Amino acid sequence: MPGGEHPGLKPGLSRDALKALIRTVPDFPSAGIQFRDITTLLADGEGLSASIDLLAEVATGLGASKVAGIEARGFIFGTALALRLGVGFVPVRKEGKLPVECIGEDYSLEYGEARVELDPSIIAPGEKVLVVDDLLATGGTAIAAARLLRRAGAEVTDALFVIDLPELGGAKALAEEHLRTHALIEFDGH
Ligand code: AMP
Repeated sequence: MPGGEHPGLKPGLSRDALKALIRTVPDFPSAGIQFRDITTLLADGEGLSASIDLLAEVATGLGASKVAGIEARGFIFGTALALRLGVGFVPVRKEGKLPVECIGEDYSLEYGEARVELDPSIIAPGEKVLVVDDLLATGGTAIAAARLLRRAGAEVTDALFVIDLPELGGAKALAEEHLRTHALIEFDGH
């Protein structure tokens, strides 16, 4: 094939092109926060597809038998990734949403407290579960999700994000909990 090209197969967008599709909204939800808004990435067909391709490229080497996504934006990337990997999806839910007996973890946000909950009956003992969310900031949310999954019997070694904000120290906090961090793109600042 001339030039090694494959007809019908379009090369995916680069990580830089994905980054350019994310909208930054200053001072949301409060002064000083640069909100990294994935709405504009999701609305772009090529961007959405490339983000799942790139997540799958990273996740393939990690050998998880389930993907856990954190409500709500982690559901979007996590479900698509699970489909691509051919594994099941585990929703880590916000407080009060599950209709069955569940376990919960409280954690601190920049302003106030939050809680995530899980139905532990959907985790098999020793099952390897990959945590997925749209963005890593301080790491509190992903750590709470990993703790919950571990309490349910899962082996959790890795967390995968579309975006990392390295200055907020999330990867270091995750490492202290014996979690490796993977992210497709990084943004400076908060
Ligand atoms: P943290 O627990 O501090 O790592 O915060 C991560 C969670 O908060 C993720 O579910 C993100 O969706 C959300 N989040 C935190 N900071 C931002 C930000 N600057 N832009 C967009 N989402 C954020």
